[in-house]
Amino acid sequence: MILSIESSCDDSSIAITEIATKKLIFHRKISQELEHAKYGGVVPELASRLHAVDLPKLLEEAEPFLNDLKAVAVTNEPGLSVTLLEGVAMAQALSIAKDLPLIPINHLKAHIYSLFIEKEAIFPILVLLISGGHTMVLDVKGYDEIKVLATTMDDSFGESFDKVAKMMGLGYPGGPIVEKLALQGDSKKFSMPIPLQNSPKLAFSYSGIKNAVRLVVEANQPLDEETKADIAASFQKAAIAHLMQKSKKIFKELKPRNFAIVGGASANLAVRKAFTNLCEEFDCNIHLADLAYCSDNAAMVGRCAVDAYELKKFISALDIEVQPRTDVI
Ligand code: ATP
Ligand code: FE
Repeated sequence: MILSIESSCDDSSIAITEIATKKLIFHRKISQELEHAKYGGVVPELASRLHAVDLPKLLEEAEPFLNDLKAVAVTNEPGLSVTLLEGVAMAQALSIAKDLPLIPINHLKAHIYSLFIEKEAIFPILVLLISGGHTMVLDVKGYDEIKVLATTMDDSFGESFDKVAKMMGLGYPGGPIVEKLALQGDSKKFSMPIPLQNSPKLAFSYSGIKNAVRLVVEANQPLDEETKADIAASFQKAAIAHLMQKSKKIFKELKPRNFAIVGGASANLAVRKAFTNLCEEFDCNIHLADLAYCSDNAAMVGRCAVDAYELKKFISALDIEVQPRTDVI
């Protein structure tokens, strides 16, 4: 079995995955969302302290499996340095004390593997990764064959939901709040620009929509509930239209047989619906992870680590480093 640890942002999580069957045996997660909500976003120092308190609690729960381990895996990039370090320190200690191989895991690769926790792995697959820090279209052919086809030039998709929610004083994280509010609003009420609409560039940009929302928010003070819902609906419609427009270009070119959406924002039902329709149009199979595995978790890290274990992607406990940003997935 492999013990996996996730602490790249504001979720502390530990999982146990069986190597031979790739099956998830144990999975626990403590989310810090409520603690950070007071500040309208993640406070790295607080997140780090909470990981230091919560990870040992989760490890204690995993105690029955600790004598059956063949390796320890940990997210070491990308993420917040001070929170990644908490998971890495625990993994180093376990690796040294129990003489186990250590597997460093890229968090974005782990998001891709969230698809394969309960299903057989499928390659090649075109993947849209939408999360708090990233907006990417990836051509995934295997563990070590991941090509970035498009990425964001500024804010990420999830981040734009967080910022829009903050502007309207709705709380954190903004994604689920804005999605829910949008259901009650009129998406035609405010016209929002669709970024890079006339550009051939295969890239995303969310700062323009965010600024358009800021102007509408400022022009409609004080915001009543109906206006907030209309802003949420208008924003979400433009944000998804942008994802769709650029993805459609890639679909036309690559004609993928398999497509997936991963990352925290892949929980958004309007996104799921829009891409289900796009896949129907292109006669492509759509793959979506269980909602429980969209946001950060150690189950996806463990599933990713099984493939890494088979490829012997080990590192010495004294050599592992954390990287806040990564170019290669
Ligand atoms: P990264 O994975 O890029 O390092 P992260 O780990 O912080 O970033 P995730 O936990 O994967 O991000 O996703 C969290 C993000 O997803 C937040 O920005 C949140 O607002 C967004 N999100 C969650 N649910 C939804 C939703 N229903 N609609 C839109 N966005 C959502
Ligand atoms: Fe994430």
